[in-house]
Amino acid sequence: MTQSCATKDLLIEQIKTAVSVLLVTHQQELEAVLGGDFAAVKSAQGRLTICTRTKILLIERYRQHLSEHGC
Ligand SMILES: [Zn+2]
Repeated sequence: MTQSCATKDLLIEQIKTAVSVLLVTHQQELEAVLGGDFAAVKSAQGRLTICTRTKILLIERYRQHLSEHGC
């Protein structure tokens, strides 16, 4: 049955945080486009790239943890 695993819970929290940051940053990117502030667009896109990489890494860690730990 389902057992609590601190590592699994931590990874889930980190994935949720990364997705929240991506949502906010996508909104900032859109607002910058609509405001014609293309320096801000570029800045938001740089942050989106970094945060997307982080999110993908976290999901991969989560997948590996589930397969190794069986939790
Ligand atoms: Zn686990």
